Amino acid sequence: MRDDVLGLRLERAGACAPARLSDAQGRLIQYLRLSLTDRCNFRCSYCSVSDYEDGDRILSRAEIARIAAVFARLGVRRIRLTGGEPTLRRELTAIVADLRATPGIDEVALTTNAHKLAELSAPLREAGLTALNVSLDTLDAATLRRVSGRGAFLEPVLEGIRVAARAGFPSLKVNTVVMGGVNDGELGDLVRFAWGLGATPRFIELMPFGDGVPVPTAAVKERLAAQGVPLAPDPKRGWGPAHYMRGEGGLVGFIGAITENFCESCNRARLTAEGGFQACLGGRDRVSLRDLLRAGAGEEELAAAIHGALSRKDPRHHMDEAGARLVTLPMMGIGG
Ligand code: SAM
Ligand code: SF4
Repeated sequence: MRDDVLGLRLERAGACAPARLSDAQGRLIQYLRLSLTDRCNFRCSYCSVSDYEDGDRILSRAEIARIAAVFARLGVRRIRLTGGEPTLRRELTAIVADLRATPGIDEVALTTNAHKLAELSAPLREAGLTALNVSLDTLDAATLRRVSGRGAFLEPVLEGIRVAARAGFPSLKVNTVVMGGVNDGELGDLVRFAWGLGATPRFIELMPFGDGVPVPTAAVKERLAAQGVPLAPDPKRGWGPAHYMRGEGGLVGFIGAITENFCESCNRARLTAEGGFQACLGGRDRVSLRDLLRAGAGEEELAAAIHGALSRKDPRHHMDEAGARLVTLPMMGIGG
């Protein structure tokens, strides 16, 4: 991608001085979560999505490419596409290819409910997607419909995950949000399912965006041991906040968003489908890069807005505090 195509005046960092983007606390920001749409074909009880048409409200493919190039020049190395449900975006594979062609971006990842992966896995792999996270909260069709709504059918989801496993993505993870009394009786089965496909299962603590009873990570580990998955510590760390343990079939990851606060090592920021740049998932501070871009902003202005938002980033989120549900924004559009 050439600078004049971007329409931006960009200073290239010298080979010996790679750009570094950091926040108010000096944390290095190399990872951008980018929402491609607010819409979803599921209605998970712990999440909230929108029925608005995407239209001009959301960033176009060209705008995404321009903004991603700015982030890459500032030091972002990895972009995760999320939503809403990113596979509803018709240009998804083209967007993946654009991002992979952006100098500085080493990894392009995707988080999806897997419903459309049977048809999309091969094109996504061809477009250069490097990592795939699928969300799977249950292996029971009735529970899936209860958790994720009437549009959620288990067979296409499982088939999508099986096809993805055969497509050869360098990384494939199966993420489960643990809900007390809903799916905490089948955690062992979920681990065995993921391991059977060569994928890494991970368990996420429920965050206060919607309904459901959270199960702390420590209790999840106890449930796993009781359900036939004893685990031992493992030193692996990835790009994100997960820590890993090892069992007889492979690794299991844990993301204790509430009980194991990892804000200290936060390396990420978020861009909503509408182009709102948000430094913290639990924060309210957003700056519209879309509006700046559409008003004719150049790279310097966009970079200044990004730096400004990061300079206001709090040391930590406040989602574990009393009344958090009342003050946090819905998951929809923040990019998971
Ligand atoms: N639709 C895609 C999916 O479900 O994978 C991508 C977007 S979804 C918002 C991204 C991730 O956020 C999913 O793994 C989902 O399970 C998780 N998530 C949504 N709401 C959550 C909550 N309240 N607590 C914890 N994780 C949540
Ligand atoms: Fe849709 Fe994902 Fe939210 Fe479920 S978690 S409603 S699949 S965006």
